[in-house]
Amino acid sequence: MTTTNSVPFWQEKSLEEMSRVEWESICDGCAKCCLHKLIDDDAQDEVIDTTHMNDQEELHFTSVACRYLNDKKCECTVYKQRTQLVPSCIQLTQDNLEQVFYMPTSCSYRRLQEGRGLPSWHPLLNKGKKSAMHKAGMSVRGKIIFDDMITEEEFEDYIVVWPLKDLD
Ligand code: SF4
Ligand code: SF4
Repeated sequence: MTTTNSVPFWQEKSLEEMSRVEWESICDGCAKCCLHKLIDDDAQDEVIDTTHMNDQEELHFTSVACRYLNDKKCECTVYKQRTQLVPSCIQLTQDNLEQVFYMPTSCSYRRLQEGRGLPSWHPLLNKGKKSAMHKAGMSVRGKIIFDDMITEEEFEDYIVVWPLKDLD
């Protein structure tokens, strides 16, 4: 997936211009997008679990992950049925790139969309392996509990800042 002049495709093409295979390979597999997010609505003075945000609302990440995540591999166990089983599962595509801003700062799609390039720990720069990412603490491995272990009312107790961390 490199061009003849050896410029990597992610430096040469925009996200919209990438082939399906190139697009899929940009995902670093961190699984931060499988964490529940809460929106702090100052106006209503409440915290709600949602994927839709309005102005003046603040997004918080929790360490509560979707029950269908394999937390060792950081992989979805129901990939093909994920949008049916989990309606709130965001499937980022080239057609809904505006949703990339709901992703964590370290999300590789978001990094490229914001012109920040891929980080040194990305699997594409590490022979396709996720080990550098796990070692750098940029995935969810070892940091989560599952959403079927607690009630939705308890999600608020699991608000964390580590998903906001980014590292070049
Ligand atoms: S946060 Fe972005 S890069 Fe990480 S798994 Fe989700 S879509 Fe992929
Ligand atoms: S269904 Fe799969 S991809 Fe969607 S949030 Fe759950 S584990 Fe993540």
